[in-house]
Amino acid sequence: MSRHFNFSAGPAALPEEVLKTAQQEMLDWHGCGLSIMEMSHRSDEFMSVAAQAEQDLRDLMHIPDNYKVLFLQGGATSQFAMVPLNLLRGKTTADYINTGVWSKKAIAEAKRYCDVNVVATTESTQFTSAPTQDELVLNPDAAYVHYTPNETIGGVEFDYIPDTGDVPLVADMSSNILSRPFDVSKFGLIYAGAQKNIGPAGLTVVIVREDLLGDTLAGTPTMYDYAVHAAAGSMNNTPPTLAWYLTGLVFKWLKAQGGVEAMEVANRRKAEKLYQAIADSKFFSNPVVKRNQSWMNVPFILADSNLDSTFIAESEKAGLLNLQGHRSVGGMRASIYNAVNEQAVDALIAFMNEFERTHG
Ligand code: PMP
Repeated sequence: MSRHFNFSAGPAALPEEVLKTAQQEMLDWHGCGLSIMEMSHRSDEFMSVAAQAEQDLRDLMHIPDNYKVLFLQGGATSQFAMVPLNLLRGKTTADYINTGVWSKKAIAEAKRYCDVNVVATTESTQFTSAPTQDELVLNPDAAYVHYTPNETIGGVEFDYIPDTGDVPLVADMSSNILSRPFDVSKFGLIYAGAQKNIGPAGLTVVIVREDLLGDTLAGTPTMYDYAVHAAAGSMNNTPPTLAWYLTGLVFKWLKAQGGVEAMEVANRRKAEKLYQAIADSKFFSNPVVKRNQSWMNVPFILADSNLDSTFIAESEKAGLLNLQGHRSVGGMRASIYNAVNEQAVDALIAFMNEFERTHG
């Protein structure tokens, strides 16, 4: 068996220890004589797995008691609709910050339900930065302010948490949740698709302040109502039990590594190394302003795009997988989530240096 270095943007690399534990427990979970995915979600066994995963996430993110943690399906994309359906709460307008592809998708969906006020956009500079706090023209009557703290495709990450006063702040943290500490009390709602820093695809984590629940837009489907999921412990219907279990293993692994505080140190080192290598190179470049260079997703282009396919072919041969940039932007992208260790980043940098020496 040989596991390669995996720079996929998502579904992304999982910690090897997690996969091994899952493998060991696959046929016979804790002596029960069956796997975790073959038992009722309401069994004592699965309920304990589910509760432990929630508790571990609460511990890792220091989630205050007045927040609900929901384990849902539908991906972050469903949250683009669930957020307005639940958080408009009688209001008709919401503020959105536009920093790239994922913000735009959130905005397009929200427009089905309310007037979207784009409070800042970096589109005119091809989304190569995030706006500063001073540049946000916020509406005090907005139902909420939505932003994307890390744009997975553009590789643009906010270097601060926007101050929105009394208006609830909503964050699509799909690609940077658990990458470093975030003060949850500054947010009304955080959501994230699991398949980057949380676990396998199929699960979506929502962390929501309790007082925002229970006043949905007329006609909201039952399964799109946070209050329904909160009341049912995220078991209003059959949850994705295997994904939930694997996610719990990732949270345990994170705790064993020293939590998000340790991830912050490791992720800063990994990102600084890679961006430095790109800055030192005459062949590779990254367009994002330094303060907003993402720690998780590092897009870069080659000086000669004719060499893109050669770069991909040779990197794969070297055991470095999934470096192709998003289909909408081209170029390359290295996603270096929590489960991608420094050794992988070192291997990538060595490969890039060698590629520049032989092709540059
Ligand atoms: N938001 C962001 C920031 C993302 O990176 C992604 C997925 N790449 C999504 C939303 C969509 O997530 P999902 O596929 O889980 O719906």
